Amino acid sequence: MSAQHELRVLDPATEELIATVPGASPAEVDAAVARAARAQERWAALAPGDRARQLRRFATVVDEHVEELAGLEVREAGHTVGNARWEAGNVRDLLDYAAGGVERLTGRQIPVAGGLDVTLLEPLGVVGVIVPWNFPMPIAAWGAAPALAAGNAVLLKPAETTPLTALRLAELALEAGLPEDLLQVLPGEGPVTGNALVEHPGVAKVVFTGSSAVGKQVLARSSDRLKRVTLELGGKSPNIVFADADLDAAALAAPMSFLDNSGQDCCARTRILVQRSVHDRFLELLAPAIESVRVGDPADESTLMGPLISRVQLDRVRSYVDPAAPGIRGKAPEGPGFWFPPTVLTGVDPAARVAVEEVFGPVAVVLPFDDEADAVRLANATDYGLAASIWTRDVGRAVRVSRAVRAGNLSVNSHSSVRYWTPFGGFKQSGLGRELGPDALAAFTETKNVFISTEEPAQ
Ligand code: NAD
Repeated sequence: MSAQHELRVLDPATEELIATVPGASPAEVDAAVARAARAQERWAALAPGDRARQLRRFATVVDEHVEELAGLEVREAGHTVGNARWEAGNVRDLLDYAAGGVERLTGRQIPVAGGLDVTLLEPLGVVGVIVPWNFPMPIAAWGAAPALAAGNAVLLKPAETTPLTALRLAELALEAGLPEDLLQVLPGEGPVTGNALVEHPGVAKVVFTGSSAVGKQVLARSSDRLKRVTLELGGKSPNIVFADADLDAAALAAPMSFLDNSGQDCCARTRILVQRSVHDRFLELLAPAIESVRVGDPADESTLMGPLISRVQLDRVRSYVDPAAPGIRGKAPEGPGFWFPPTVLTGVDPAARVAVEEVFGPVAVVLPFDDEADAVRLANATDYGLAASIWTRDVGRAVRVSRAVRAGNLSVNSHSSVRYWTPFGGFKQSGLGRELGPDALAAFTETKNVFISTEEPAQ
């Protein structure tokens, strides 16, 4: 393996080197696919109840290691400790939920003449799950848990900067008794290890979560073999505040809707659309809420926002923000670490880069609108369509606007988008397919229709 394909894992709060991890070469990916294919055959042949029991045991072992996994996430990703605990718990819950689906993965019986027609939901085989650095644990489990439950083997490619929790989860899977080679983690660079998975003929499906630019490449490269693909990509989600909303509640909730995880969240509500008649009042309420967000050491229980993941990301975020631009700014530590303060820009041209592109940092813009139609037009004026929030006391308006906004995950008088038991995914360039929710396992199966003749043979 070339020395250059070694991953250096830094603590983003201090820039200290915490680990080096060898990247998997295409030859190693090849060998892993072969081992996974053998493991998958045995796994799919198990009784459903046995597969479910093994996944539940895995969930229990993860639960016993929540603190340890959370600690790793704080160090390698700079997540606040509260978030990191939630993330490790989310892996446990996803495994439990998927385990509950194994015995419920039922086909259908369809009426036909002269026989019996049934559908079977067959596992795909070996599934590649390519994960970004912003939520290393949950996103790994969004793909891996239902894929395993549906009878597949999983090859997991974590992001370059955050391989440690994925590697630990694979160890915990073995400790829980999951078969060897069923869940393998292949750290490495995207264009090397990730691409090897995408192009490998033995990988039946790729679940890719990451940027829209790379997602498009993954789709193009998968097309040669018509490989199955799920894409969870970027976002530039609106937070629409109508004049009839509870303005205090809307202003109080707005900061963490785009500052959580330092804004490195595909669902971040970074376009705050405010009805013109309450625009100034809303900003008055928003300013103290932004200024009071505590930014600092992610291991400190009282911290609400940590650092960005890397220098590259910090430079990228800086490129969007003119330090002299009008707006509201919070405080961030100085010195080592990849820190950027909470930032809300006002008076921004709705077509400006910062208003339409995904910044993936703690930066939002406030844009005024005139009426409901104008709000919907502005909300839809991006290439993305992942999430949106609507703040209003008018139930009819909440429903109308929820229907009119072209996005996969809407919330009314709230910013919540993700629950493991409800479907998640994007419209437009935010993705393809859905994850989570009651149909999560079905996305890792192929439907087979079987007709069984009941005609008696002619004598
Ligand atoms: P990225 O696209 O750079 O990388 C994502 C993953 O793909 C990494 O593991 C990377 O190594 C791999 N990769 C890179 N090039 C590849 C290639 N040529 N072939 C195969 N794999 C390759 O994204 P990122 O910067 O790690 O993550 C941030 C992005 O992820 C943001 O755009 C964010 O919105 C998006 N995201 C989306 C969701 C969602 O559910 N919609 C969730 C989280 C993050």
